[in-house]
Amino acid sequence: MIQAPRGTRDVLPAESYRWQFLEDKMRKAAALAGYREVRTPVFEHTELFLRGVGDTTDIVQKEMYTFKDKGDRSITLKPEGTAGAARCFLESNLYADALPCKMYYLDAPIFRYENPQSGRLREHHQFGLECFGAKEATADAELILLAFHLLEELGIKNLSVRINSIGCPKCRPAYHQTLKDYLAGRIDQLCDSCKERFERNPLRALDCKEKRCQELTKDAPSMLDLLCDECRDHFEALKSCLDGAGIPYSVDSRIVRGLDYYTKTVFELVTATKDGNLTVCGGGRYDNLVEQIGGPSLPAVGFGMGLERVLMLLDSEGIVLPRPNQYDIFITYMGQNRGAAFRTVQDLRAQGIKADMDHCGRSLKAQFKYANKTGAPLSGTIGDDEAAQNALKIKNMATGEEKTVPAAEAPGVIRNMIG
Ligand code: ATP
Ligand code: MG
Repeated sequence: MIQAPRGTRDVLPAESYRWQFLEDKMRKAAALAGYREVRTPVFEHTELFLRGVGDTTDIVQKEMYTFKDKGDRSITLKPEGTAGAARCFLESNLYADALPCKMYYLDAPIFRYENPQSGRLREHHQFGLECFGAKEATADAELILLAFHLLEELGIKNLSVRINSIGCPKCRPAYHQTLKDYLAGRIDQLCDSCKERFERNPLRALDCKEKRCQELTKDAPSMLDLLCDECRDHFEALKSCLDGAGIPYSVDSRIVRGLDYYTKTVFELVTATKDGNLTVCGGGRYDNLVEQIGGPSLPAVGFGMGLERVLMLLDSEGIVLPRPNQYDIFITYMGQNRGAAFRTVQDLRAQGIKADMDHCGRSLKAQFKYANKTGAPLSGTIGDDEAAQNALKIKNMATGEEKTVPAAEAPGVIRNMIG
């Protein structure tokens, strides 16, 4: 039998309501802050990610799904959402409109060739927001607050917000050097990836997942001590917005994020689960990305939130999402009344009532059993009497209460009975 590729997951019909519930909340949260949806292709020219995401990142070095198409072009399945959004922003000249340009994407499939494990898939889906053309820290803060309140509203507890500033091309080179000087004496003890990226991207050693790298960098110098005035002011302004909003956050100078395009603010929303910490949302400022991919110099900030991880958290915290009924009413009938049952079902659907009937030739008894299984709160029987009088015998499946009503009155009665 052919199975789904490793690291992918189907969303089954019985569970898709959970996704839809989240999608609805996410759309509303984005719209409240003026973000409108953007949809970009699932694949882009590989060069976009080489230039945008950066060739020292794990994503570009190890994780991209890259292939040649039949026209011999190098194509890559999106390994993150921001570069595609920035490409679209640029290509459609959206920077010529009034700024900021606020956009979000939802359920964007993201492909990374990672080691599949709990919370780590090869295809996952992100809700992401991007705000182009806003340089003030209020834009960073509104994104952090939006993500925080969204997760809080879903009932997720133990949420912590971690923020940091990784400076800008003016102040970061000096920090790179300071960090390299610190790491130079310990380079033999770093893991292979940290050794490899030591020259070009030493920052990554700070958020390496290897224990020994974490130990070695415990007392490393902090970027925060070397920020230029502009970056320091920006970071202070961000903190004062968050203080004012009263959300709990901590400054964590080890957060550097995996993508090369970040400048100034970086942040993560993390929850403590019984299997350790889980990062559910990550983002930051990328003031140089638009220019890097060939556009004007233009500040921007955004985040990405993994839908699978949000759902995982809801599960692990025992949060139950409201499950809609598949049917309001299930019509049961004797074989000779199949035509009448069919018409009834169509009439009810036309009135906005979720209705269905047996399509498998079941006996009346088996139809009731099936109706029960679907969780339909009501059944409506059409026997010979009901067919002759154009009526419906409606039964509350939980209490057994029954009412026979003329077909014309059925929709109103059904609505009443299901509240
Ligand atoms: P991590 O440190 O967990 O690898 P990341 O820094 O690679 O995360 P981002 O690139 O910032 O993550 O992506 C944003 C969000 O997308 C993450 O916070 C997470 O919720 C989700 N995500 C990232 N990679 C995966 C994956 N392989 N499977 C499922 N969700 C993921
Ligand atoms: Mg990752």
